[in-house]
Amino acid sequence: MKPIPPPRVAVIGGGFSGAFFAAQLAKYSQHPLIITVIEPRAAIGGGVAYSTPDPAHRINVPASRMTLFPETPTDFDDWFRRGGGLETDPEALWTDGAVYPRRAAFARYVKQILERRRHEHPDVTIEHVRDAATAVEPAGATGWRIYLAQGGHLEADITVLATSHPPPGMPALIARNLADDPGVIANPWRPDALDQVAPDDDVLIIGTGLTMADVVASLTHRGHRGAITAFSRRGLLPRGHAKTPVPAPFAWYASHQPPPGLLALLRQVRRQIAETNLPWQSVFDDVRANGQALWRQLGPADRRRFLRHLRVYWDSHRYRIAPQIEKILADKQHDQSLRVLAASLVSARREGEKIGIVVKPRRAPSDQSKSILVDRVVLTTGPAHGTVVNQNPALHSLAARGLLQADALGLGVSVDAQGQVIAQDGASQKTLLVVGPLAREQYGELMGLPQVAAQPNAVAAHVASFLNNRRFPVLKELAIVTTES
Ligand SMILES: Cc1cc2nc3c(=O)[nH]c(=O)nc-3n(C[C@H](O)[C@H](O)[C@H](O)COP(=O)(O)OP(=O)(O)OC[C@H]3O[C@@H](n4cnc5c(N)ncnc54)[C@H](O)[C@@H]3O)c2cc1C
Repeated sequence: MKPIPPPRVAVIGGGFSGAFFAAQLAKYSQHPLIITVIEPRAAIGGGVAYSTPDPAHRINVPASRMTLFPETPTDFDDWFRRGGGLETDPEALWTDGAVYPRRAAFARYVKQILERRRHEHPDVTIEHVRDAATAVEPAGATGWRIYLAQGGHLEADITVLATSHPPPGMPALIARNLADDPGVIANPWRPDALDQVAPDDDVLIIGTGLTMADVVASLTHRGHRGAITAFSRRGLLPRGHAKTPVPAPFAWYASHQPPPGLLALLRQVRRQIAETNLPWQSVFDDVRANGQALWRQLGPADRRRFLRHLRVYWDSHRYRIAPQIEKILADKQHDQSLRVLAASLVSARREGEKIGIVVKPRRAPSDQSKSILVDRVVLTTGPAHGTVVNQNPALHSLAARGLLQADALGLGVSVDAQGQVIAQDGASQKTLLVVGPLAREQYGELMGLPQVAAQPNAVAAHVASFLNNRRFPVLKELAIVTTES
């Protein structure tokens, strides 16, 4: 009898989530297996966040909190210090002893985890197909055919979607008047995005979150001297970490039942911040660590209310910045080369050599709008997760067949508690799964580490249990049965 070829698991998207899923599936697999990661970037493991070669881009929490393995929580920090990270990048070390390495260092760390898995599990192949998936369709009884941008296709028994972050959306006014304007930098994550900004250019940044902080840090590193104006509706900047070391973590939720409902929870968090003798960051960190359980408790109306009214405040406190970046923002605000406004966009049009922007400051009457002339406009409004199913061709092709749907909250894709994609008829699909932030409607807090490692790890364990027990017909087996009968 012909030997049965090993099953294939295809991972579409080889950022951190897809790569870590592959590493953990290799670890849990008890049989030969091919894991094919489809990713257009040169390497897997970096994705949008960690592929950046820019030395000004740093991880936004201390390395000791970039935890992949709960049993060795400081593994990345240890790897960085042991491997001479501080010699090549002494600025990573902050005054309190914590290290905030460049984000590219984290990609190197993930790469060595993949290499370790390849070495430890020679029966499992982890291969990188450097391409983009353009469409996915069912093949055989339970498998999938994935079409590739450079031509051809491959077949897989299980497909895992890990495409996570689409580029920022374009505000309607910019799309209408300046969509193809060379002065508009629509995707700030491209490695060459800021190459066209001259040192004396005046720059407008739309958005005041983490990507804005990255852009200001990069421009500063490049010796930019022009004026930078950043605005968002509320003008909230990402906050920094606690300035004083916290003696013991605040861990209320480990031993208490949270109050029911969003409003009661909000009141409790405010009270705890006021009453505990700790930095507010400690209370927030406890909420975040228990974010998935808290999210499960909220009903659909409260989840919507959170996203509509509280998300912007949650985001600016939950997503912190490295102190090195916090200092750059503070220094530039102090010398007035960076202005941060709470305002909304009124108009945007090309005016000769410049781009003319009118913004209306928050709560100001419309006759007090401000006009600004700039050379460049950079969009940092955050990944456009609300439109990802239409934007990403692989997701779109599945949605067109009724096999996938955007979630009701506009956070990504509808999945069940195992990460299995819920088709438009409501059925969970055992061989089509999501890892990473696209599954946020189900999990709530699923963006940074450690949660964004725990979820791919859990999905890998779930998929491995299928494969190890041969609980579903493998595409290759079916194909062979068909040929032989
Ligand atoms: C700029 C930025 C900085 C961050 N910094 C931190 C940090 O310091 N600490 C932290 O804990 N978290 C950070 N995060 C959070 C981040 O979401 C997660 O840590 C994690 O990196 C998410 O990885 P991912 O693989 O799910 O997504 P992504 O990084 O978006 O990777 C998805 C990959 O899918 C690929 N892809 C998309 N479509 C296709 C297709 N059709 N076919 C094939 N491939 C496709 C893309 O090329 C991409 O590489 C940051 C996020 C961003 C955006």
